[in-house]
Amino acid sequence: MLEFIDQRNLSIDSELFMKPEYLIHKYISGNKYRKLKYNLIQLKTLKVNALITFGGAYSNHIAAVAATGKSVGIQTIGVIRGEELENEIMNNPTLSFAQKSGMKFKFVSRSNYRLKTSEAFIEGLRNEFGDFYLIPEGGTNSLAVKGCEEILTPNDKSFDFICCPVGTGGTISGIINSSHQNQKVIGFPALKGGFLQEDISKFARQTNWELITDYHFGGYAKINTELISFINQFKAEYNIPLDPIYTGKMMYGIFDLRRKGYFPKGSKILAIHTGGLQGIDGMNMKLKRKHLPLII
Ligand SMILES: *Cc1c(COP(=O)(O)O)cnc(C)c1O
Repeated sequence: MLEFIDQRNLSIDSELFMKPEYLIHKYISGNKYRKLKYNLIQLKTLKVNALITFGGAYSNHIAAVAATGKSVGIQTIGVIRGEELENEIMNNPTLSFAQKSGMKFKFVSRSNYRLKTSEAFIEGLRNEFGDFYLIPEGGTNSLAVKGCEEILTPNDKSFDFICCPVGTGGTISGIINSSHQNQKVIGFPALKGGFLQEDISKFARQTNWELITDYHFGGYAKINTELISFINQFKAEYNIPLDPIYTGKMMYGIFDLRRKGYFPKGSKILAIHTGGLQGIDGMNMKLKRKHLPLII
């Protein structure tokens, strides 16, 4: 089990620290490693030899599952949103990495993708691929939450605030469950949508948490030049790379909240760097097409 205790103080006269989960692995990074751990143990217990999951074109989860399959020797299958991507694999860093790692793909239209949790859709997958272990989009299920309960360690009790980015809510649920009641867990959703509160409540066993919904930058994978320059300045100053989908938005939010006096004086904040750096290449290709500045 990897444990990172060299949390870095991000500035001398403040109390902002970062837990560098992104250092776990380049592709099985941060929270995706945590979310897969107990699912893999379960898969091995069930003696199933294939793992199927779902994701978009640049998904960190797809990259992590593919890399995991390769390293532990199981067949992985990715159900990918967007039929047009079938002919774009070579132009897509995430998908070409996943393919090189041995992942098989099934590309589906956006409307079919919406049916992915239906019995009929899953039955179709069984007919096509045989027996498999299924992990939902984004990797969130109760075993994933259990893995994310290992992100915080007893040493982290001294923090007043614990911040993390939110996609499906699995990661923050694990963090909430292993936090101390006196700590406050703050989630920064990377997307718009009111369903998160409810999703997190399904897994979270405590109520010491809050979502701050002001920093999604217009929605999932939406960014602007202000966020890009924040990410680039952050790296220049602290030598820590941030991804544009999750950790960049969270850190932007934390910096903004600190400026606005959200955190009481003297409080200690821990930001969880959940990884996601594999997504930078794909984002830069999009930025290049739009003639926008790139993430360095
Ligand atoms: C997937 C991901 C998240 C979101 O995690 P959830 O458990 O879906 O909320 C956050 N950060 C990074 C870097 C991710 O890849």
